This record gives sequence, structure tokens and C-alpha cells, in this order.
Amino acid sequence: MGGFGFKKKNAEEPVKKRTRTIIKCEECEKTFYSDEINLNNAADSCTCKNLKIGIIKPKDSVFLFYVTVTWSISRPKFYDEYLDI
Ligand SMILES: [Zn+2]
Repeated sequence: MGGFGFKKKNAEEPVKKRTRTIIKCEECEKTFYSDEINLNNAADSCTCKNLKIGIIKPKDSVFLFYVTVTWSISRPKFYDEYLDI
């Protein structure tokens, strides 16, 4: 299982450039973007059902929620992309 967290809006942002994490299923090439995952569309999965995206809401954390990625066939590729603002 892999994952990453989303900070609450009032948390300090130490880096000037925003990044997002890209999760790509190597089986069906479905791509998920971390900035498109939120509490309303969690529990998504890719076309071939290799990847399942989920959300965990932690208590007393700087993170508003964590995105979890689980896979059944092969590990997806994780990489970061810079967002221009
Ligand atoms: Zn897939």
C-alpha cells in the first residue's frame, strides 16, 4: 500500500511551487492525479481494477485526509509533477 497526505488549508506551505502526485496503473494506463482526489470522489478504481484509491480521515493530524493506493496485480508508478500557478 502507498499513499500521501493532504494538508489542511491553514497549514504552512513550505515550498513555493505546488506539486501533485500522479499515480499511474501500468496495467491499463489509467492515471490518477492527487489534486483531483477529494472526499467526495474517493473509493475510485482504475479500469482493470488493479488500483483502488481510498481516503482515510485522520484525527489530530496536520493532514485533512490521506489518500491510500492499494493494488492487486502490479505496483503503480508514483511521480510528482509541478503545477504552474
Ligand atoms: Zn488498471
